[in-house]
Amino acid sequence: AFDACRAEARQGGDELKSPASDAERPVLVLFRDDLRVADNAALAAASRSGKPVIAAFVLEGASSGARPLGGARRWWLHHSLAALNGTLATIGVRLVLRRGAMGEVVDSLVTESGTDTVFWNRRYDPGAIAADTTMKAGLRNRGVAAESFAGHLLHEPSRLVTSTGGYYKVYSPFWKAVAAGPEPRDPLDVPDGLEPFAGNLASDAPDAFGLLPTKPDWAGGLRQSWTPGEAGARVRLDDFVAGALQDYAEGRDYPAYQATSRLSPHLAHGEITPFQIFAALQGAGSDVSGAGAAKFRKEVGWREFCYHLLFHNPHLGTRNFQPSFNAFPWREDEEALRAWQRGLTGFPIVDAGMRELWETGYMHNRTRMIAASFLTKHLLVDWRAGERWFWDTLVDADAASNPGNWQWVAGCGADAAPYFRIFNPVLQGEKFDPEGRYVRRWLPELARLPARYIHKPWAAPPAVLAESGVRLGETYPRPIVDHRLARERALGAYETARSAP
Ligand code: FAD
Repeated sequence: AFDACRAEARQGGDELKSPASDAERPVLVLFRDDLRVADNAALAAASRSGKPVIAAFVLEGASSGARPLGGARRWWLHHSLAALNGTLATIGVRLVLRRGAMGEVVDSLVTESGTDTVFWNRRYDPGAIAADTTMKAGLRNRGVAAESFAGHLLHEPSRLVTSTGGYYKVYSPFWKAVAAGPEPRDPLDVPDGLEPFAGNLASDAPDAFGLLPTKPDWAGGLRQSWTPGEAGARVRLDDFVAGALQDYAEGRDYPAYQATSRLSPHLAHGEITPFQIFAALQGAGSDVSGAGAAKFRKEVGWREFCYHLLFHNPHLGTRNFQPSFNAFPWREDEEALRAWQRGLTGFPIVDAGMRELWETGYMHNRTRMIAASFLTKHLLVDWRAGERWFWDTLVDADAASNPGNWQWVAGCGADAAPYFRIFNPVLQGEKFDPEGRYVRRWLPELARLPARYIHKPWAAPPAVLAESGVRLGETYPRPIVDHRLARERALGAYETARSAP
């Protein structure tokens, strides 16, 4: 079999040394949504094997299985790969970049290098699971040892079952069950003493991936807001644990303040793991054992729950979790959808959230909930249209958390908010952004309005609007719907769906 491999490799034009023994044959480590060297089980296993190590990242095409990344995540990925390349270089390993279908590219890397072992950390997107399962079987069939490791999640969705053998559909019992299990393991160290592969494998140049936006370059706000990569993730975590964590339980709902961790894009790209997060919470002194840390653990638990749901509902991103919503009378309203996407609905808290998203690739959780509720309830636009917009624009777009939360807000998800609880965007703004600091930041055209009108500029007397430089319908839109009427319309739509045969 090895002779065959060697013959194929030669055909491919690659120089292949003749490995004398299995120990000299390299191990291939795949990097996918785990762009880190610390707490990386696959890399640690490669290190333990004592074999020369090849590290590779494969940029998959649209038909490869995993959900194709949106624009904001592609921007992040470019920088995260550059960071990973740098970090791997410090431990003596070169990152090989290739493009194509994961299984096919790995096959040719195995052939070109004489690899007899392939390691990777597991993915949990259903398309990716299918692709990885096929890849594993194919590799084993050709005599290559293929092994996958856990690391993206604290729990393995396939193993956690309810007392009746099913999966969890409600968050609280889910998290109780996870918390009752063993303590999360300690994070794994960065491997040292890795032996790099001596052969010369061709690699694409990072720029050839074409991940960065060019015409136009819309990523200026992203560059200002984020430091993609493992080191950036670590700085965020340490800063958060040393600072905002203490007031996290109260502060996390106020979008004007940096009271949350902003670790979500780092988690989405696997630059940091929940094991590292939990370890940091344990090790940081007495104040973190309090309410802030407890609440924070639970929020990380929502990410776990979303993955649990996705694993058991592979169509979470496209089908209503509750089939009763299949008869929901969504409206086709391109104009309303565009107003929402651009932050031009006339409801300042919604528009501020949507502009934050466009500018930075991130939106605060409170405004995500308000904006998603507004789209699905006030505008009656299908949650899938909003989910797709978020998927394209969020740097933390996540195959589990994005649809899981959209369905939760729209009322059709697991453990969802009751449909009839419809957020009033004015009251939400007044409660969670009382001074209007968040709105003023993202909607400079309203910055001079007094706080009492900042969430309802249409209610301001003409003299106040004039003094503040606001001309409704010109400098800032009038509301595109009336809250009371929209609420009644939404409740009517819900009744229609409920009473459908
Ligand atoms: P923190 O408050 O610091 O929380 C720490 C971590 O816990 C987060 O990084 C995240 O991994 C996890 N977490 C917190 N809240 C949730 C939640 N409700 N669901 C799942 N995980 C959570 N989060 C994503 O990571 N990717 C998405 O694509 C995404 N889409 C969303 C869409 C909608 C409509 C809504 C309402 C929420 C969405 N969220 C998503 C959840 C949440 O808004 C973000 O995880 C959070 O705002 C990230 O900021 P942070 O890291 O500062 O969070």
